[in-house]
Amino acid sequence: QTPEFENGQRKKTLVLLGSGWGSVSTLKNLDTSLYNVVVVSPRNYFLFTPLLPSCPTGTVELRSIIEPIRAITRKSKGEVIYLEAEATEIDPVNNKLVLKQSTTVHSGHSGKDSSPFKSTVSETTGVEEITTSLNYDYLVIGVGAQPSTFGIPGVAENALFFKEVNDSVNLRKRLMDMIEAANILPKGDSERKRLLSIIVCGGGPTGVEVAGELQDYIDQDLKKWIPEVASELKVTLVEALPNVLNSFNKKLVDYTHQVFQDTNIDLRVNTMIKKVSDKTVIASTKSPKDGSTETVEIPYGMLVWATGNAPRGLIRQLSSSIEEQKNARRGLLVNERLLVDGTDNIYALGDCTFTKYPPTAQVAFQQGAFLGEHFTRLHEVESIKYSIDHPSPKDNVERLQKKLTKLQEKMPVFKYNYKGSLAYIGSERAVADMVWGDWSNVSSGGTLTFLFWRSAYIYMCLSVKNQLLVCLDWIKVSMFGRDCSKE
Ligand code: FAD
Ligand code: NAD
Repeated sequence: QTPEFENGQRKKTLVLLGSGWGSVSTLKNLDTSLYNVVVVSPRNYFLFTPLLPSCPTGTVELRSIIEPIRAITRKSKGEVIYLEAEATEIDPVNNKLVLKQSTTVHSGHSGKDSSPFKSTVSETTGVEEITTSLNYDYLVIGVGAQPSTFGIPGVAENALFFKEVNDSVNLRKRLMDMIEAANILPKGDSERKRLLSIIVCGGGPTGVEVAGELQDYIDQDLKKWIPEVASELKVTLVEALPNVLNSFNKKLVDYTHQVFQDTNIDLRVNTMIKKVSDKTVIASTKSPKDGSTETVEIPYGMLVWATGNAPRGLIRQLSSSIEEQKNARRGLLVNERLLVDGTDNIYALGDCTFTKYPPTAQVAFQQGAFLGEHFTRLHEVESIKYSIDHPSPKDNVERLQKKLTKLQEKMPVFKYNYKGSLAYIGSERAVADMVWGDWSNVSSGGTLTFLFWRSAYIYMCLSVKNQLLVCLDWIKVSMFGRDCSKE
């Protein structure tokens, strides 16, 4: 990479953390020839999260909804370096990151003091952790969030989360293990009953979609493969509030409740899980009539935890080192140009921030598009400043100063354009709260909405390859159904 531009100005290093909705959108909208761009993420691919709930049961294959980060960097105008690592520390004073790579392929750096890399190998797992540092001029933090547990005892040890590719793989494995383990036990056995009880905790869009997909699998496929088990397998959705999908129109919420009732999903609203053991959950149920509460114990074979987001350790570490972020408990506080409060060169977007916008792909994607363009303008500002400080004989400094002031005043701020919300609720039905232009909101639910949901998600896929693969998966499932193999 060229270290400087023709006028002698140093090319600045822009580090993007993450390969999710926010960072990838920034990258796609960035003129990468203007900066030394480095992407750091432990995940060397982008994941199209809206279709992740379709993966554990095999409605959609995982490979169909991931896009290698190199497929994106390869199309960039300038060179982009990708490092597979996670940032474990941000030093906002010295503009420095600590990076850690976890790998099973040992690099041989262990114990060599002369190496710029520090490395340790775990004796139990055999995983090598390599630590190094990276300097930046500008940093964009798009590390997303981690699943929240609200500190509820037993959740971290016993529940399955649902956010990443591994979570989908683990859910599939657990589901199949559970089914086969129950199948060997006689009918009427209490352990068989427990094993065949699936609890999904959290009636937000993630919980609703996961519950819908699981029930589809039971009704449409498992009934054919293992009818004796399928008829006993029960999905229970537990939600602390009186309704599921609380951000949707009330009409669609009622419709979802009805569809769940029709498809035998056991919906338990006003029920908050308070404690989890390896075989049961303890929940408190509130009566809508008199507000009285009752404690219930529900045995389970598989517990899926989908109660929303909590900040990652990296975000908590950065917040604690910046005075202006002292009150940032749910994510980084940013200004209207996504600059992290208390810094002048760190930007943040998506689920790792706490703003007036919901933590959705839609918001992160639009913020990324904004930041990509912001950095082009920022480069122009920096170039003018450089010319003012190092004028050539043909430069008119006064004119440059005016241009700079005008440009700085005109730097746009981020504006969110809400396009609507969609969610799949099972049995080939979806709900949609759509906004058409500035004037009309349309709420719809049903089979037609399901077709709209499918077309919208195909349209949103990052590449033609993904679009094609997802369509082929749907065709494959409609022709042959979903199988019940463990893999
Ligand atoms: P992410 O997309 O989560 O990306 C974070 C990236 O940072 C990842 O690449 C991760 O590996 C990386 N990372 C993590 N830690 C570090 C670190 N320390 N250093 C460097 N990199 C790191 N939203 C919608 O609008 N519509 C939907 O239909 C929808 N469906 C969803 C379905 C599911 C199952 C889930 C879980 C979420 C869904 N969402 C949906 C929400 C949406 O996925 C998130 O809001 C979105 O992913 C946020 O984007 P992000 O870039 O902030 O984070
Ligand atoms: P969420 O925060 O939207 O919902 C979590 C739900 O869990 C809440 O309704 C909460 O009341 C409930 N809950 C919390 N603790 C509980 C407990 N102990 N017992 C019972 N219930 C409990 O979380 P999510 O569904 O993971 O979604 C996260 C974000 O991702 C949201 O912004 C959402 O809009 C977005 N998302 C969107 C889609 C979509 O548009 N189709 C799909 C998935 C996620």
